[in-house]
This record gives sequence, C-alpha cells and structure tokens, in this order.
Amino acid sequence: MSRLVLVLGDQLSHDLSALKAADKSRDVVVMAEVTEEGTYVPHHPKKIALVLSAMRHFADELRAEGWQVAYTRLDDPEASRSIVGELMRRAQAHGTGEVIATQPGEWRLIEALDAAPLSVTQLPDDRFICSLEEFDRWAEGRKELRMEYFYREMRRKTGFLMDAGKPAGGKWNYDHDNRKPARDDMLRARPVPFSPDAITEEVLALVEDRFGDHFGDLRPFRFAVTRAEARRALDHFARELLPGFGDYQDAMLQDDRFLHHSVLSPYLNIGLLDPVEICERVIEEWKAGRVAINAAEGFVRQVIGWREYMRGLYFREGPGYARRNELGHDRPLPAMYWGAPTQMNCMAQVIGQTQEEAYAHHIQRLMVTGNFALLAGIDPGAVHEWYLAVYADAFEWVEAPNVIGMSQFADGGIIASKPYVSSGNYIAKMSDYCASCAYSVKDKTGANACPFNLLYWDFIIRHRDRFARNPRMGPVYRTWDRMDPDRRKAVRAGASACLARLDAGGTV
Ligand SMILES: Cc1cc2nc3c(=O)[nH]c(=O)nc-3n(C[C@H](O)[C@H](O)[C@H](O)COP(=O)(O)OP(=O)(O)OC[C@H]3O[C@@H](n4cnc5c(N)ncnc54)[C@H](O)[C@@H]3O)c2cc1C
Ligand code: SF4
Repeated sequence: MSRLVLVLGDQLSHDLSALKAADKSRDVVVMAEVTEEGTYVPHHPKKIALVLSAMRHFADELRAEGWQVAYTRLDDPEASRSIVGELMRRAQAHGTGEVIATQPGEWRLIEALDAAPLSVTQLPDDRFICSLEEFDRWAEGRKELRMEYFYREMRRKTGFLMDAGKPAGGKWNYDHDNRKPARDDMLRARPVPFSPDAITEEVLALVEDRFGDHFGDLRPFRFAVTRAEARRALDHFARELLPGFGDYQDAMLQDDRFLHHSVLSPYLNIGLLDPVEICERVIEEWKAGRVAINAAEGFVRQVIGWREYMRGLYFREGPGYARRNELGHDRPLPAMYWGAPTQMNCMAQVIGQTQEEAYAHHIQRLMVTGNFALLAGIDPGAVHEWYLAVYADAFEWVEAPNVIGMSQFADGGIIASKPYVSSGNYIAKMSDYCASCAYSVKDKTGANACPFNLLYWDFIIRHRDRFARNPRMGPVYRTWDRMDPDRRKAVRAGASACLARLDAGGTV
C-alpha cells in the first residue's frame, strides 16, 4: 500500500527526513496551500508569496526527480482549509490512511497531526545541528540555560572555528568587537535582488487577490524562491558583505536597511539552505584570509549558537510557551505597529521597513520595536502574533523564544538574564534615527523628551520588586534612587502621559 508523505511549506529540503523514509516508487508526496496557514495570523503578503512560490518550485523539482506529488493550490475549488483536511482528502483519493511527516516547527501543527484520524508518523526534523534529545541532555540539571555554554558545545561538536580542541584565535566569542555604529556608504553591497519568474508572478497575483488586505507591501518582490537562487544569495553574502558583518552587526541606518546582514534567515527557515553549509561557506572565507575572525565567529555563533538554542528551548518549554506573560503586561498593541503614524522616528523607520521588506535585522527587532513594547507593557501574546505575522523568516519555533523570551522577558528569565530594555541613548549611539526625530533624545523630561527615556524609568520602577535583586540591574536602581526627586516626579508624569496617549489610541 502506498503512503502519503507530507511536506510543509517550511520543509522544502531534498534531504527532509520524511522524504528519506519514503519510497519514490509507491508513496505520494502531499503538498498543500491552505487558507488556514495563511490566515491564523495575518502574515505579511511577501512572506505568503515566498512560501507559496518556493513550494511550487520545490514540487516541480520533486516531480523532476521522479516523485508523484499531489499538490493543492490555494485556488483549487476542492481544497479544504487545513493541512489535516487536505491529508484526509488525499488519503481517501489514494486509498491509504498512512502518513509520514517530519515533525512541524510549531506545537499547533504537531497537535493537529497527533489528533488527525489517520496513522501519522512524525519523524524528527534532522535539519538542525542539535537534536531535541541532545538539547535536553545539555539542559538537564543546569540552573541557568545560558546560550554561551550551549554554543561552546556546538563549536566542539561541529569543529567549526576550532584549533586542536581550542577556539580559533584564542577566544570563544568576539562580540566585544562587534558594536560599532555604521556610516552611510553608497558603495556598500546590497542583498542580491531576484526577479520573479512566471511561477512567482502567478503566486503574486493570487496573494494580491486573497491577502491584499494584510499589513505589508507585496511588491517589489525580490526574494529567492529556489535552492539554486538561495545558494547565490549565500555566495554573494560571503564574498561581499561578510567582511563587515561583525563590526557593524548592531548598527542601524535609516537609508541602509540591510547593512552587512545576510538576509538568509527566510531561506534557512523554509529549508532552501542548511545551517551546516552556510557556516562552512563562511569559514571558507575566513580560512582564505578574506574575513577577520570576529566576522566569521559572529556569524557562526548566530547560526550554530542562537538559532539552535532557540529551537531547543521552544520544544523543551512545551506547547504553552507562546502564551507566557510573567510580567503581567496587558496593554493592546498600539496601532503604529500596523502602520499608523508615529512621531518616533526609530519606530517609524523600523515599522516602515518591515512593511516594505518583511525584514528587519536583529537589533531593530530587539532594541526598537521589542524594546518599546516591553517598556510600554504591551501584552506579549499580541507582540508575539505581530512578529509571527510580519517577518518573512517568522516560524514559531524560532520567533516565539526570540519574542516571548529574549525580547519581552515574558518567560521570566529563561532566555535572558535581564530584560533587554534601554533608554533612547542606545538607539542614538547605534543609529542615525534620532537626528531626524520629532523628539529629542537628549531630553529626559518635558514635552519633547524621547519616549524611550521616559518609559525606561517607568518600567524599571514598575518592576522594582522583581528586578532590584538582580545583580546586573542593581546599578540602575541606585542611579534612580540618587536622582533628584523633582526629576523623578517629572519622568513618571511624562511616562504616564505617554501611556495615557497610547491607551486613548492617540499618536506617540
Ligand atoms: C523580537 C525578535 C524576533 C525575532 N524573530 C525571528 C524569527 O521569527 N525568525 C528568525 O529566523 N529569527 C528571528 N529573530 C532573530 C534575528 O533577528 C533574525 O534571525 C535575523 O534578523 C535574520 O536576519 P539575517 O538573516 O539578515 O540575519 P544575520 O544577522 O545575517 O544572522 C545570520 C543568521 O543567524 C541566525 N540568527 C541570528 N540571530 C538569531 C536569533 N536570535 N535566533 C535565531 N537565529 C538567529 C539567523 O538564521 C540568521 O539568518 C528575532 C529576533 C528578535 C529580537
Ligand atoms: S529620539 Fe527617541 S524616539 Fe526619536 S528616534 Fe531617537 S530614540 Fe527614537
């Protein structure tokens, strides 16, 4: 009897465990574009187009390799609304109730497959360096699950940037060298733009029709949609942008949205690229002497460290993780996150860029939009749904730990040892946003004061009971206690006025 082989939109890898376990001569690959996946949060139209176009290209590649593929298009009148609905339909058509799947990257789908009235085998997703069992073994019995120690294990395991058992260059981590602000440079390379082919154009028309009301610009569409294109994007990054990756990793510039970032996460997360191959490509540049150790190490750390660590934690923490709210924040997400006007130039820049590109780099996500949401006490569930919707690389296993854990401290400190909050000073130091802002970053009180300056102290004081005993936060409380009482009063009054404007749906 034949079996169905489920391939999801973020599982577009030829060496997927479900494909490896299947028999090309008798099993049927099931791929389905279903409305539920495009709408359970209002995904950015560029993200939907990326996934659908990459799925259609991948299905063609599988057919060319000899697979029988049962592919459901979104506009197929027979299509059901969900993945399980499509599996049931195909099961009936092919006279089989047996399904081989690779475990999805989201509890919602894992549970749906578990509950399906079919015999579904969910195989481990082995497109990662660290298996979930290995992560659990590492985590077991540790008081704190710090990324740095996990990362060192992954360096030892892969042998990446290792020299006779020791870290190459003598240090495990060169982050200290990676905090330089950037200057505008017209000659800096940009990520390669890919032109839509006929398949992508057809998808773009469909997405325009079905999801045109979602937040985000569909065109121009420049993402790679095949593995061959994604490989070209990787080569371009390694040759042109990697040398500056470390130095300017945390910098933000109004007229340069990508700086030295790779913009490879959308391709990695849907399976067009593999984490080992991208690290090997980067290390090749370092071995050839074309990039410094801080650039190569900085990049490898993000991929074999942060990315794998986030996945391990998401699965270790279980299905309720994305609903955690340890700080009890409950303010609704302000309309500016969906493009309503704001006078805060940093927020306008990052959200505007997100709307156009479905992309923002790490520090923009963490220290601008994430920082504001945390300081203002926004409901982390709403923040999580926003990030999951608006970024092309957002899949729950990696998005939720970054948002709920790293950015919003909503897991109570499993991922972050202290909340990632800052006043406007950090943004002023690392970006050129403040120069053209209606607020003044130098003003700590008064009508013109940067909202980050006001809300920072308000957050610190609101959560004094929780954070005052944190040794890394002690100096902050001492600074507040030494501050002139009138100034303290003015800061809190300014923060209350700012939050009241947000609550009234006004512009900040
Ligand atoms: C609030 C918030 C939400 C985020 N949501 C996502 C998300 O939905 N999907 C996602 O892939 N990343 C997410 N990240 C992590 C990071 O911001 C993106 O991986 C990165 O910006 C992708 O752009 P890039 O490919 O140009 O990355 P680069 O700066 O070029 O980094 C190289 C690669 O390292 C990996 N990486 C770097 N940082 C992280 C991290 N913290 N966690 C996991 N992988 C990392 C990515 O695969 C990335 O492609 C989030 C971070 C924050 C603070
Ligand atoms: S002054 Fe404040 S609000 Fe304006 S850009 Fe700078 S940090 Fe952002």
